[in-house]
Amino acid sequence: MSTNPDCLFCKISSGAIPVDLVMETETAIAFRDIDPKAPTHVLVIPKDHFADVTELTQSNPNLAGELLSLAADVAKLQGLDSGYRIVTNTGEDAGQSVPHVHFHILGGRSLSWPPG
Ligand code: 5GP
Ligand code: ZN
Repeated sequence: MSTNPDCLFCKISSGAIPVDLVMETETAIAFRDIDPKAPTHVLVIPKDHFADVTELTQSNPNLAGELLSLAADVAKLQGLDSGYRIVTNTGEDAGQSVPHVHFHILGGRSLSWPPG
């Protein structure tokens, strides 16, 4: 288990900061975003610390697959049968604000494309 004591999402995955939990597996958790951008807005994160999707896929591609599967399970559980979007912001240009990889699952309304 590799965590970073200064990382917000490591504190969430260890239970030090409470969240509205949606699903949990051995390696990952899914919880509601504190500032939802859609009627359903859930974040999927690995319990271990990886800065972004580049670091995750280079270090542990199997885990990357598990996180995508969990994201699809969350969409099903949340009843997003008419569609949903999975987003992972990477780095400054994409506006990544928390440097612990996370997948946004957004749904519950018509989503514009392309994003801004
Ligand atoms: P990013 O901007 O890095 O792609 O996404 C970070 C997300 O984390 C944002 O949508 C933000 O609302 C969410 N977030 C930041 N701090 C917290 C928190 O303490 N709890 C929860 N549940 N979500 C958070
Ligand atoms: Zn972390």
